[in-house]
Amino acid sequence: MVENERLKQELRRCEVELQELRAQPAVRCPGCEHSQESTQLRDKLSQLQLEVVENKGMLSELNLEVQQKTDRLAEVELRLKDCLAEKAQEEERLSRRLRDSHETIASLRAQSPPVKYVIKTVEVESSKTKQALSESQARNQHLQEQVAMQRQVLKEMEQQLQSSNQLTAQLRAQIAMYEAELERAHGQMLEEMQSLEEDKNRAIEEAFARAQVEMKAVHENLAGVRTNLLTLQPALRTLTNDYNGLKRQVRGFPLLLQEALRSVRAEIGQAIEEVNSNNQELLRKYRRELQLRKKCHNELVRLKGNIRVIARVRPVTKEDGEGPEATNAVTFDPDDDSIIHLLHKGKPVSFELDKVFSPWASQQDVFQEVQALITSCIDGFNVCIFAYGQTGAGKTYTMEGTPENPGINQRALQLLFSEVQEKASDWQYNITVSAAEIYNEALRDLLGKEPQEKLEIRLCPDGSGQLYVPGLTEFQVQSVDDINKVFEFGYTNRTTEFTNLNEHSSRSHALLIVTVRGVDCSTGLRTTGKLNLVDLAGSERVGKSGAEGSRLREAQHINRSLSALGDVIAALRSRQGHVPFRNSKLTYLLQDSLSGDSKTLMVVQVSPVEKNTSETLYSLKFAERVRSVELGPGSRRTELGSWSSQEHLEWEPACQTLQPATRAHSAPGSGTSSRPGSIRRKLQPSA
Ligand code: ADP
Ligand code: MG
Repeated sequence: MVENERLKQELRRCEVELQELRAQPAVRCPGCEHSQESTQLRDKLSQLQLEVVENKGMLSELNLEVQQKTDRLAEVELRLKDCLAEKAQEEERLSRRLRDSHETIASLRAQSPPVKYVIKTVEVESSKTKQALSESQARNQHLQEQVAMQRQVLKEMEQQLQSSNQLTAQLRAQIAMYEAELERAHGQMLEEMQSLEEDKNRAIEEAFARAQVEMKAVHENLAGVRTNLLTLQPALRTLTNDYNGLKRQVRGFPLLLQEALRSVRAEIGQAIEEVNSNNQELLRKYRRELQLRKKCHNELVRLKGNIRVIARVRPVTKEDGEGPEATNAVTFDPDDDSIIHLLHKGKPVSFELDKVFSPWASQQDVFQEVQALITSCIDGFNVCIFAYGQTGAGKTYTMEGTPENPGINQRALQLLFSEVQEKASDWQYNITVSAAEIYNEALRDLLGKEPQEKLEIRLCPDGSGQLYVPGLTEFQVQSVDDINKVFEFGYTNRTTEFTNLNEHSSRSHALLIVTVRGVDCSTGLRTTGKLNLVDLAGSERVGKSGAEGSRLREAQHINRSLSALGDVIAALRSRQGHVPFRNSKLTYLLQDSLSGDSKTLMVVQVSPVEKNTSETLYSLKFAERVRSVELGPGSRRTELGSWSSQEHLEWEPACQTLQPATRAHSAPGSGTSSRPGSIRRKLQPSA
């Protein structure tokens, strides 16, 4: 540090000198000794400056060194302090040990003498030696332990070495074995390789030979193909030509097809047109034929009369009894089947009707007569067939018949079915049936759920003037089975309703109404025909004295309705302007089927036996009158007048009040009792 201080001072002095020198003006005097001196000084200065720099570096180094040394000094001092502390501790420890030792010695002294000797010896030794000894002992102990440990380790190592030696020997033996095997495998491999090589060479040789043969064949084939190709080329050329031709044709085909289609279409159209016109022609002809047929039918009916009356005489039955009362009183004309002779009270009376059936006539014979009427129903005509006559004369037998031998009702329906079936290709038909009863001027539905309910006859609300019965049951029927079911149902209804059916049915009118509705499939023309099959109440007259109460009332009702029926038929046949349909339920209900171009057939049933001749006479008179109305316009009124006034007035006083309408519409006739009918008169020369 002193050196340093000196150098600093010298530096400061040098700087001062330098400043002074700089302050002096520059003197240029070459060769002058001052300038040389100055140069020397300058050099010296720069040298000194360099020295200063060097010294400064040295100074800083020294400073650093000083610093380091100071640090080390501090460290040494610290260590010294630690050592001192350690020393104090050690001293402490030693003194403690010493104390312990003293205590031990004291305790040992208290023990046996040999021990005392040792203690003495120990006491002789200096404490230093004691310490060294104990340290060396400790070290010795430690070394011994280490030696023992090393020995142990050595022993283990030897064992390991030994086992590894064994392992090595084993491995060596294995290696030797593997090597031997390897050697053997190598030998085998070499052998195999050699044999494979041989095989390969052989195969190659064979393949080569085969390939050569094949090659030869291929060459031959190739030659053949070449020649073939040469011959095929012209064929290919022609094929190509053909193909091109076809292609051209195909291109033109749609046009050709269109043309063909057009011509075919035109042909078909023409054919259709022809067929159409043919059809039209046929249809026209058909319609004309239809009209013609209807006209012919009408003409036929007109010729026969729209209202026809036939008689049927039943055979004598067991019920007629025996004796003179049961003898036969009816005979027939063998040449004319429209004449019937009756022996009444010994006098023969003859009647002419449209047809007379003898007792031998079968149900089929009778049906044959009415068949045309029934078929006209299919053409849309309304038809009424009445069975008239006294009770027991055979009305029900003719209309209903027996199960084995059915009457008009069932046969008519069967005929309708078969006719409809025949026309099924052109027409579609729907057949329905209703059954009703008129008793004491009350109309009842026999097929309804409540047969006791009274039905009303009403005008159709559509303004057509047609009548209908609201609530009257209509059953559609398609087979005989259906009809049987309907009849059975009606019969059951009637039997449950009335305890004495026979008696009841003879006092009521039973109606079976069959409606046939048809549609012409080609023209759409619709027809509706109604067939009314009526089993009238018994026409027998009840004696004035014998009739009382309900029986009288029944008789009056029957009489009134039958008179009304006679009036209506008479009015229709004489083509009167007013027809008294409303005078009874029966005629009112049948109004549609009695008027217009409707057809009516009255079957007058006759009992042939003696005891019934007066009723038979009455029935035949009624029949002839109905029929004779048509004889001529002049005579009609007279005929009608005489009928109403004569027959019914025979017992009319009793029921006069009930029949104002009937009489009102009967012409106020002559009241004469002369029997009309030129034929009858002609046939009765003896009367
Ligand atoms: P109505 O109905 O007029 O009262 P029915 O038809 O009941 O009379 O006939 C009375 C009886 O006469 C019945 O037993 C019936 O079988 C029989 N009868 C009626 N007409 C014939 C006939 N043509 N052939 C055979 N028996 C008949
Ligand atoms: Mg009857």
